[in-house]
Amino acid sequence: MSLENKVAIVTGAAGGIGLAIARRFVADGARVVIADVDEAKGEAAEAELRETGEATYIHCDVSEKLDVRNLVAGTLDAYGDIDILVNNAGIVVGADFLDLEEADFDRVLSINLKGAFLCSQAVARHLVERVKQGGPAGSIINMSSVNAVLAIANQVPYSVSKGGMNQLTKVGALSLAPYGIRVNAIGPGSIMTELLASVNSDPAAKAKILSRTPMGRIGEPHEIAGIAAFLASDDASYITGQTIYADGGRMPLNYTVPVPEED
Ligand code: NAP
Repeated sequence: MSLENKVAIVTGAAGGIGLAIARRFVADGARVVIADVDEAKGEAAEAELRETGEATYIHCDVSEKLDVRNLVAGTLDAYGDIDILVNNAGIVVGADFLDLEEADFDRVLSINLKGAFLCSQAVARHLVERVKQGGPAGSIINMSSVNAVLAIANQVPYSVSKGGMNQLTKVGALSLAPYGIRVNAIGPGSIMTELLASVNSDPAAKAKILSRTPMGRIGEPHEIAGIAAFLASDDASYITGQTIYADGGRMPLNYTVPVPEED
């Protein structure tokens, strides 16, 4: 298996895309730490993953430096090493540009972007020490979005945080390349998680999404997990500083595509 004996931390892995990544990593032979703020969902995910492999839930708010320090220490305690970090935790706060509260701007940036930096720095310090002692390099994967490049008017801090995520990916890749540590990102389009669940009961919202999705369907979390598994594996050994977009064709599309009406 491509991730046999590797130790991976996946943030925001109690549900959605993060949980799909944790499932895929366990299936590929990795031992996985589920880092999330949601205690109940985190423990349920741990129980599910332990049926087929090794997994541990550690409570962590990625925007809190002390939590991140405890996450790294807890992972080393549980599995003795760290090979892979997936910075997946993220939130959305929708508000018009003119109405957005400063506190909401700060909250989104501190979880989506600062959290990814804190986790990356803490894990990279461990990886660099390991490389200096003759050990293997390791890999960091950031969850970006098509909204790193495109934008939605009422998603101000989210779009800004994801644009920052692409730059964090590039600057991290350059900083860690001398040690062989790779840093890449994934930019999903619309993926069916709780974040998007409301579109199932809102045909107009779904049609809006599909009109910007040439493949004519919303993506599934496991389709993002496959890219994370690839980027974490040795098959991606010469890829660093890149963002791979998985969006059903949205990024190359100008204008819209026709959407069949639902019955
Ligand atoms: P999700 O279903 O809401 O899952 C995100 C998880 O992160 C939740 O378990 C959430 O816990 C947790 N979380 C929130 N704040 C946290 C914090 N401070 N520290 C640690 N964990 C925290 O979202 P998703 O759709 O899977 O999205 C995962 C990532 O993919 C995000 O970075 C998102 O921006 C990105 N993405 C998603 C889509 C999409 O269409 N779904 C598209 C592009 C990019 P709570 O449930 O308690 O908040």
